[in-house]
Amino acid sequence: MGDAMTALPLVFDAPRRGIPPRHLADLTREEARAAVAELGQPAFRADQLARHFYRGVADPAQMTDLPADAREALAEALLPGLLTVVRHQTADNGRTRKTLWRLHDGALVESVLMRYPDRATVCISSQAGCGMACPFCATGQQGLTRNLSAAEIIGQAVAAAAAMANGELDGGPGRLSNVVFMGMGEPLANYPRVRKTLDALLTPAPHGLGLSQRSVTVSTVGLVPAIRRLTEEGRNVTLAVSLHAPDDELRDTLVPINTRWKVGEVIDAADAYARKTGRRYSVEYALIRDVNDQPFRADLLGRLLAGKLAHVNLIPLNPTPGSPWDASPLPAQREFVARLRAAGVATTVRDTRGQDIDGACGQLAAADQVAGVPSVAVPVPSVEPPVELGAEGDE
Ligand code: SAH
Repeated sequence: MGDAMTALPLVFDAPRRGIPPRHLADLTREEARAAVAELGQPAFRADQLARHFYRGVADPAQMTDLPADAREALAEALLPGLLTVVRHQTADNGRTRKTLWRLHDGALVESVLMRYPDRATVCISSQAGCGMACPFCATGQQGLTRNLSAAEIIGQAVAAAAAMANGELDGGPGRLSNVVFMGMGEPLANYPRVRKTLDALLTPAPHGLGLSQRSVTVSTVGLVPAIRRLTEEGRNVTLAVSLHAPDDELRDTLVPINTRWKVGEVIDAADAYARKTGRRYSVEYALIRDVNDQPFRADLLGRLLAGKLAHVNLIPLNPTPGSPWDASPLPAQREFVARLRAAGVATTVRDTRGQDIDGACGQLAAADQVAGVPSVAVPVPSVEPPVELGAEGDE
């Protein structure tokens, strides 16, 4: 592969940019009650506001259980609009919709809502840009702009739930059932806010979105300390590990974080997660023609995962602008699947929704789409990374 493909530095610490205005979804229930009391209102109004937020009600005029003369002030203080739609793009006969959001400081992120016969999944962003520098990923090529706040992440899921409830996608009203952290960013590099988001997703309505643990998936490049931390937290969501190569030599180049935490360490951490949660983890593997799709690599991957509580999700590479790589041809895909299955490893090939609107995995690159909004890449310090990733600005 060319030098240009590996030139980006790894970035752990998000640049400090303007912190979004305070939002109820960033606060604990106690903090929200205190904030409401400070506004001279009874504390239970915090619960009323939460109910409106998680139902996707944004217009104070519709919050009729709040006193008319206090609605505006309460909503302004605790439910500021953090996500502004720049545009929606639809594909797959109106069943996939990508939304480009502008944040308070002009940063741009995307989310993708996908409707299937039996479920509706939203793919959300946890950071603006990404610091993990994977050369085949459009977001990875942008660099990291900043971490999203919990409210900014949760807001994407709430908007998707409201869009489903309102029948904004083809097929009539429905229910958001799944959330995957496979949009822009590395969720485990923004750990505290992602954890807060998990709480909001899993908390029963009306104080959260009431999703089940198995229908929420956190996807990571393999930040081992953060996987271990997630293992201890007891929110048994599904874990997806973006492996993309079974051997360190290749993975060092495809997933540069591998230079810090090797294949073996990542798989060990995922195994520990599976033991603790009883939940199968998924191994993501983008099939890239003549790069990682050789039969011997299928066999290596099969040996690595045989007997483990894991399944492999193969994603034919979604080509990104400027990249010399493309998807493995079908015969190579079939051979790869056959070898994994022969090794006893459950394997599926992902259907790639939204390709024609650049809404498929690894294609999200919001900053490229609107002129004048630069993304900022900051060189990684030469010291060892802190164990508490993303600790900056934490609660
Ligand atoms: N940072 C997280 C989540 C974001 S990407 C992670 O890496 O897991 C979600 C998935 O899409 C990851 O498995 C990622 O490796 C994969 N992906 C990235 N670019 C891709 C591309 N061009 N084609 C196919 N999959 C891609």
